[in-house]
Amino acid sequence: MSVVTRFPPSPTGFMHIGNARTALFNYLYARAKGGKFLMRIEDTDRKRHSEEAVQAILDGLEWLGLEYDGEVTSQFARQDRHRQVAEEMLAKGQAYYCYCPPEELDEMRAAAKESGAKTFYDRRWREKSPEDAPEGVEPVVRIKAPLDGVTTIQDHVQGEVSVPNDQLDDFIILRSDGTPTYMLSVVVDDHDMGVTHIMRGDDHLNNTFRQKVIFDAMGWDVPEFAHLPMILGQDGSKFSKRHGAQGIHDLRDMGYLPDAVFNYLLRLGWSHGDDEIISRAQAVEWFDLDHIGKAAGKFDFAKLENLNAHYISESDIGYLLEHAAPFYKSRHDIVLDDVAVKRITEGQEELKSRAKTLLQFVDESVFYARSVPLTFDEKAQKLIDEGKDVLKLLLEGFENMDDLSEDLVKGLCKAVADEHMEGKLGKVAMPLRAAITGTTVSPSIFEACAILGKDECCIRLKAAI
Ligand code: GLU
Repeated sequence: MSVVTRFPPSPTGFMHIGNARTALFNYLYARAKGGKFLMRIEDTDRKRHSEEAVQAILDGLEWLGLEYDGEVTSQFARQDRHRQVAEEMLAKGQAYYCYCPPEELDEMRAAAKESGAKTFYDRRWREKSPEDAPEGVEPVVRIKAPLDGVTTIQDHVQGEVSVPNDQLDDFIILRSDGTPTYMLSVVVDDHDMGVTHIMRGDDHLNNTFRQKVIFDAMGWDVPEFAHLPMILGQDGSKFSKRHGAQGIHDLRDMGYLPDAVFNYLLRLGWSHGDDEIISRAQAVEWFDLDHIGKAAGKFDFAKLENLNAHYISESDIGYLLEHAAPFYKSRHDIVLDDVAVKRITEGQEELKSRAKTLLQFVDESVFYARSVPLTFDEKAQKLIDEGKDVLKLLLEGFENMDDLSEDLVKGLCKAVADEHMEGKLGKVAMPLRAAITGTTVSPSIFEACAILGKDECCIRLKAAI
């Protein structure tokens, strides 16, 4: 049997981090087994529906690099099919019309509340004939859930879980306006899409028992399930905005690379021995259902940051700049040109080794993309004001060189320090850094000068002086 998994988010406007992890696990399991990973949008809530919200989810998947197979299925577009299945169940006597008016339902609800019963509907229309229907009541369609015994699910994460059938009511599958309910739609879609494995949040576990009733009623194969524990914040409460991020776009905006988020979300709920750094290829090779954690994972930004630093240092410069480009624009209003890309590429080793996030990478490399007039931050301006004499000596030294190399620049700074600053190299290098980069934080200024070249350094020094 070929594995088919699916990711069926409701389009809430963005890709929740928990949903992204669910998508990742379904993607990986399909890829690990050479199966298919299908995409469905549960878009039946038309009041809140928007195409942008759907696009935001697809963008999130693309950013994480989770490619799905085939076209996106719209649940809403399949309503006729859902209705047809309900009718089939009616015809086979596995579902029935219920004509209870709202007042009767209210009474049953109140009685159930008082007795503490788990379900309220007393199945009064289960055996009645539609001929007894009262005037003016549009019926709903209810499923005939089993009356005794237990419904059991073998879950890959939760183990064997059972519910006594008397706790599963004859739930509604078609509303009185003829629209199918969520419970019915999900099952029909999963069946028609040939889904074999369902991984989703454990908040859906209760639905699963009811969904199994529908699968059984139709005589359809029941997929295998893995209900994933929630993601928590460090304080043990459900992970949310107040813990620092909510959607995958928040992580992107904080300067995390997709590769790092992919690796982090994988480890947050799945393990492969003690391995922390797991590449995409290894993940596809290793992913299985047996090593999904039973305990809820706590989101740990420090761990994500460590992984991000690793992926920044390991990544190809093209990949880094592709993901950094929006930040050069948003933070510095800069679009990298060929010269800037060439300089950053030359200086990449140190830039990468310093950066924990793309924001840091961008801020510390943007001076390569600038030219005069530079803006100086307050500390840099102070260093320049106090170091004018040193800068003049350096300018003179640079002008006398054929070209700059890291060693030559360092040698010049040392000589100036020895002669004028009691050998204190920092007193020379710091004003130089301020003049060349506009800041006091940058990679090695000797290497930076060599990369910028003699002409550019002289222009910057003159402007600063
Ligand atoms: N639309 C549901 C959600 O976003 C998915 C339910 C499922 O995986 O069956 O939580």
